[in-house]
Amino acid sequence: MSLADVKHWVFDMDGTLTVAVHDFAAIRVALDVPPADDILTHLATLPAAEAAAKHAWLLEHERELALGSVAATGAVELVRDLAARGYRLGILTRNAQALAHITLQAIGLADCFAVEDVLGRDDAPPKPAPGGLLKLARAWDVAPAEMVMVGDYRFDLDCGRAAGTRTVLVNQLENPWPGLADWHAKDCAALRQMI
Ligand SMILES: [Mg+2]
Repeated sequence: MSLADVKHWVFDMDGTLTVAVHDFAAIRVALDVPPADDILTHLATLPAAEAAAKHAWLLEHERELALGSVAATGAVELVRDLAARGYRLGILTRNAQALAHITLQAIGLADCFAVEDVLGRDDAPPKPAPGGLLKLARAWDVAPAEMVMVGDYRFDLDCGRAAGTRTVLVNQLENPWPGLADWHAKDCAALRQMI
């Protein structure tokens, strides 16, 4: 299948449609998460009260970031182009769903995504688990092989591979994971030239 034939597109948010602003090292320090640990996975191991307090801190921190979101190069034009073609568009993010909506509004793309097709960390198992993509495949009544997952990090590509979708890596000058990405574009403007 050529990329131009794909009509079901799922995007990562941070670093893919927006300029990445999360300082994960600083977040780990603030939440006392060991440097090598995945933040969400670590929080899941904590006693309930401590986990709840840290999730609340994370949500507030991320809300501030979401309000100041800036679109990545070419992201608005790409998504508007795909939406104008009538394609199905979704978001799969490890951010919270409410913050994903704030982010989409901040970059002017909120009208391009159906609310139920924006999946946050409480709506699906976190990437690289494939559950979010499989949920969208069921909702859209389409085979995963007909879908593409677009992201800037290996979790996005692993997630696509695990679900059986096609994969696109963006916003990396080189492709560090050639075996995981079906296509690579240096940014969303270059990706738009490929469809
Ligand atoms: Mg990302």
